[in-house]
Amino acid sequence: MRVLLFSSQHYDQESFTQAAQGSALDLHFQPTRLTLETAALAQGYEVVCAFINDELDAQVLQRLATGGTRLIALRSAGYNHVDLAAAQRLGLAVVRVPAYSPHAVAEHAVALILALNRRLHRAYNRTREGDFTLHGLTGFDLHGKTVGVVGTGQIGAAFARIMAGFGCQLLAYDPYPNPELLALGARYLDLPELLREARIISLHCPLTEHTRHLINAQSLNQLQPGAMLINTGRGALVDTPALIDALKSGQLGYLGLDVYEEEAQLFFEDRSDLPLQDDVLARLLTFPNVIITAHQAFLTREALDAIAATTLDNIIRWAAGNPQNLVSG
Ligand code: NAD
Repeated sequence: MRVLLFSSQHYDQESFTQAAQGSALDLHFQPTRLTLETAALAQGYEVVCAFINDELDAQVLQRLATGGTRLIALRSAGYNHVDLAAAQRLGLAVVRVPAYSPHAVAEHAVALILALNRRLHRAYNRTREGDFTLHGLTGFDLHGKTVGVVGTGQIGAAFARIMAGFGCQLLAYDPYPNPELLALGARYLDLPELLREARIISLHCPLTEHTRHLINAQSLNQLQPGAMLINTGRGALVDTPALIDALKSGQLGYLGLDVYEEEAQLFFEDRSDLPLQDDVLARLLTFPNVIITAHQAFLTREALDAIAATTLDNIIRWAAGNPQNLVSG
């Protein structure tokens, strides 16, 4: 069976080629992002394997279905970018990788917290320039601080375990409380209360119509002055322009983003020779208390291997008429 992997990077090629050894799958790697313009490349491919910034709206799905595609195999947990109603109408099955390594994403969120707090990004540059001064590098002990976890599923729980290990007090917000968090001593609150009480807030909920712009100008006003916000969930959980005002006023003391609302046109590409056209991102990058990574939280060897193994298993099981990890609207 022919499988076309859109948006594939060299690390995808490595992990998928290794995982496919001994199988009958015929994998083709396409670095291009899937859009209406590139969908024709999938002509004749029964399976299209897509990542988070590939476009899977009704028009693209229609084009894929017309070209003979029958399965969309997402190599991600999130599926907010797929028009599931259109897929169903067109008879396209959609499968995903519900869990690969919650630790990968949770640990990256913690890496952002530690780097921001201890200003590692500034210290790194300073010592390389021969400047061994410490002014402006004062951090705070994580021990005893209050951390708010928004979305306490697999990644949120892994994150909470690590923060509990630092001796932090845990607050949580999720419509479905997780007993594991309660066992860690977490207190479930409503979102405004969590935002008022937490010194650090980390977002781990999916992007849905209910969570779009969960963090906005109004919710940023509820934060403790100087609070830290970490987003490794999805860019549109946050109203990004509102962050700029909160950073300028000092209401937001630290910001760590691994995801960005408008990332689809930018992330996973080397654009260092080109003028940055996104003025919101450009402004965010000027703040000394902001670290932005380009959607790399998932990028560990263990996660890549698990993504490849589960995706190929999803395809093989679907072909055998015994599908798993189906996503339905
Ligand atoms: P999960 O399904 O295990 O957990 C999600 C949790 O969010 C659930 O407990 C759910 O009840 C909760 N939730 C749903 N609606 C909510 C709301 N309105 N408010 C608060 N909580 C809500 O998913 P997961 O594996 O923990 O992944 C969480 C998200 O992380 C994914 O949806 C994805 O967007 C993101 N993610 C990012 C990366 C990355 O590389 N940056 C990688 C993987 C996943």
